[in-house]
Amino acid sequence: MQKVYLDNASTTRIRPEVITHMAEVMAQEFGNPSSTHSFGRSAKVILETSRKKIASSIGAKSSEILFTSCGTESNNWVLRSAVKDLGVKRIVTSKIEHHAILHTVLALQNEYDIVVEYVPLEVNGAVDYQGLENILADEVQGKTLVSLMHVNNEIGTILDLDKVGTLCQNYNALFHSDTVQSVGKTELNLEELPVDFITASAHKFHGPKGVGLLYVKKNYVLQPLLFGGEQEKGWRAGTEAVHQIAGMAKALEMSCQELKKERLHIHELKIYLKEQLTEAFPEVIFNGEIFDGTYSDTTFYNLVNVMLPFSTDKTSMILFALDMKGIAVSRGSACQSGSVRPSHVLAEILSPEDLQKPSLRISLSHENTKEEIDALIMALKTMG
Ligand code: PLP
Repeated sequence: MQKVYLDNASTTRIRPEVITHMAEVMAQEFGNPSSTHSFGRSAKVILETSRKKIASSIGAKSSEILFTSCGTESNNWVLRSAVKDLGVKRIVTSKIEHHAILHTVLALQNEYDIVVEYVPLEVNGAVDYQGLENILADEVQGKTLVSLMHVNNEIGTILDLDKVGTLCQNYNALFHSDTVQSVGKTELNLEELPVDFITASAHKFHGPKGVGLLYVKKNYVLQPLLFGGEQEKGWRAGTEAVHQIAGMAKALEMSCQELKKERLHIHELKIYLKEQLTEAFPEVIFNGEIFDGTYSDTTFYNLVNVMLPFSTDKTSMILFALDMKGIAVSRGSACQSGSVRPSHVLAEILSPEDLQKPSLRISLSHENTKEEIDALIMALKTMG
């Protein structure tokens, strides 16, 4: 059976060139980068070359890039340190952030005397910028941190980083963006963007799992989550995973090199997917898109979140039935095996009734083809 992977917002296949590079590093560079002998120095060169490559891919300085184990760690670290070390007394975020933000904010609210405010959303789930400005205009004692994701991992809505960053500057607030879904998939120039902190994760851009990064603009000093050695300026103790970091750098470098070509291909596939879905099921609804007679194309180019006009009793079996046919997508709403909770993102934008209907998140990469989309549509047609 030909397998079809359409769940690239969950994770992506590692590029073969990245695997080759990592294998070379693992085989030849086993030194500890903190050691002063030649083995250590050689590993340190890999580490710092990787940092340089990553920094230049996103318009940052090497000294602004800190390596972590994943996007979740980076998000936890920046939020916690902002409260603990940077005097943040208010966090402004949204209800449709990833749980790595939402659960961390709740934990911080329990532990510290901070105020948490959630920005209002437009009907499609996009951030209401005027609503954000109204919150920021309402001054509080102490610093405010705004934490809003760049691209939503479930519905693909896009935040205007420039606009939000400028608002934050105007109101003297810090700005963090969870850019896990956009790094490696769109151009970012942090030298020009008014963003203080961003978060990324290598496995979302065809790199290895277990490695991520935090970008910290040069004027901020964070304190560690984990205490120990002097790695990462003493901000993040623990021997660096040199092969993972080298893999992340290679993956980001390649994603940036191939970006224009791959984005064009993926976007064409997305348009084709939406056309085919609409033709097969004229009543489909595209969650996250604006509807004014026709659907807009405002969500991120690699993601479609579709509500299928099937009866609600089909909801729990669709993913399973697709999986039986070798097709991997992700749930958009309602139950998933292992989870009985509906999507907290769709819960913010759909009526309770629509939330029960089967929604699917289909997320594409450069490896996907029209034939794979045809296979998905054909499979869905047998279920309607
Ligand atoms: N933030 C967003 C927007 C994500 O999509 C994810 C992963 O799904 C994460 C954070 C967590 O990243 P990681 O899997 O590297 O911990």
